[in-house]
Amino acid sequence: MGDAGRGNAPTREEADRADEETAVKIAVASGKGGTGKTTVSVSLALTAQGQVQYVDCDVEEPNGHIFLSPVIRTKREIHLVVPRVMEERCSYCGKCRDLCRFHAITVFGRTIMTFADLCHSCGGCFLVCPEDALARDKRLVGVVEKGHAGGVAFVHGRMRVGEAMAVPLIRAVKEEFPEKYVVIASYSDYERLGTISPFAMAPLAAAAGADVAMVDTGIKDGKSTFEFMSEKSLREFTTMNRDAGLMTALAGSLGFDHLPALKRIDPDIIGVRGMVCGGNRDSSIKEDLVDRLVRMVG
Ligand code: SF4
Ligand code: SF4
Repeated sequence: MGDAGRGNAPTREEADRADEETAVKIAVASGKGGTGKTTVSVSLALTAQGQVQYVDCDVEEPNGHIFLSPVIRTKREIHLVVPRVMEERCSYCGKCRDLCRFHAITVFGRTIMTFADLCHSCGGCFLVCPEDALARDKRLVGVVEKGHAGGVAFVHGRMRVGEAMAVPLIRAVKEEFPEKYVVIASYSDYERLGTISPFAMAPLAAAAGADVAMVDTGIKDGKSTFEFMSEKSLREFTTMNRDAGLMTALAGSLGFDHLPALKRIDPDIIGVRGMVCGGNRDSSIKEDLVDRLVRMVG
């Protein structure tokens, strides 16, 4: 038996593939601060069995490290390419200024100025300059730090103070564990919150390289996402995301009675906390409700 067992042992590649196929990926996302994302994420990382990777994409204010106290092994600076004018070549034609929609270059008379912090690194000015008068300089966006906290593999990004562009750093964090998903959330009740609509957010999420566009409720007063967006508009949202290469996550006080509509909408991910906690945000997960959900979804 023992010999036969060893003969059938999987190779390292087979084991890695099996791990990948059975891996559970959990994204903890919300647009608001103070909702407990870090508490939930850190708790999951510390209690999960097997290999765990903790990826903190909140590069503007990462704080998982405060709780996990990781040992940082590598630190990588992330830069954007920005233009630097070689004035001896510049003819002050203004073509770079006219092209730059971010007003990162100004030309008046025989004076030209660049504003590196406004530059989005689109590269257009390098292409239109007829004198080849722009050199490639770089602006520090932040650092990606990677290490481990006990048995938990850890990575996060820290934006430079004063930096406005988070996306390049989020991408860099994600690249450290390419199998991770970046979720960008918007709110079904955006009108009462005065925030961006999900339909406006999704193209931005796609352009930013996110994986999932999520709709949740912003105000947790028991009202469901379906009270703010119809089944038809949620279906349109899902289709739009799919066309843009994004997955769709729907959440916001979803109940068992919403499952038929959710099946018709066909999102990739649904938020079920309220459903499996019996509609009480302070309650714990109930096994019988999980069983019921699995039966209804399956
Ligand atoms: S790279 Fe793009 S954003 Fe930056 S200065 Fe040039 S045109 Fe403007
Ligand atoms: S396009 Fe080139 S030559 Fe013209 S103003 Fe800009 S840097 Fe100078």
